Amino acid sequence: MSGNLYIVAAPSGTGKSTLVGLLLKEEPGVRLSISTTTRNPRPGEINGREYHFVAVDDFRAMIKRSEFLEWAEVHGNFYGTSKKWIADQLAAGVDVLLEIDWQGAQQVRKLFPRAIGIFILPPSLEELERRLTGRGTDSSEVIARRLAAAEAEMRHVGEFDYAIINDCLERALADLRSVVRVSSLRYDVQRIRHADLFSRLIN
Ligand code: ADP
Ligand code: 5GP
Repeated sequence: MSGNLYIVAAPSGTGKSTLVGLLLKEEPGVRLSISTTTRNPRPGEINGREYHFVAVDDFRAMIKRSEFLEWAEVHGNFYGTSKKWIADQLAAGVDVLLEIDWQGAQQVRKLFPRAIGIFILPPSLEELERRLTGRGTDSSEVIARRLAAAEAEMRHVGEFDYAIINDCLERALADLRSVVRVSSLRYDVQRIRHADLFSRLIN
């Protein structure tokens, strides 16, 4: 039995974490993969909740032990997805959501060609800057670096199955939920989830 694997990517500040947080409340069947990172925690972030925060040497040791499904350097820090946790969840039929960048998405797609890719776009570059500044968690230097990277990141939108524009938050959340709902209704997913019913109804 295999759960659905969702990959959600967006330039920093678009509202990806906000949207994913709301989605997880409304779709409790979907579990978020907690990545490991070498970046410093932001105010309010808790080790093991937003990320597993580790030192660079520890991250390198994890790479050597092949503990990551994928990893990448993003905005000067390392980020990686735990291989074992994902494998265990999917094998148990649980839907998993990865909040990762386009480089990680490329690696995951090679391993899981049926992963469902969703790219979230801001309504404009000006609004992206406003959101990055308004979040109040990053220095102006970090914000400038993330804004500069945004345009290059958005060139990868075509590698994803779905593109959602996060202008109105409610609308974007409804769009994200639609993708999750429709993916879970696919025949090959339903046939496994409701195997008993299918065999009773169709001989
Ligand atoms: P990301 O995870 O993509 O880096 P966040 O979820 O941290 O982005 O959101 C960045 C900022 O933008 C936060 O302050 C958040 O409250 C705000 N935000 C998110 N979505 C919207 C939206 N649709 N309209 C206005 N502000 C938003
Ligand atoms: P932030 O520092 O704002 O939390 O995240 C910065 C970027 O790193 C975002 O684009 C986010 O999706 C990406 N990211 C977070 N975790 C992972 C991961 O495990 N792997 C990869 N490749 N990117 C990640």
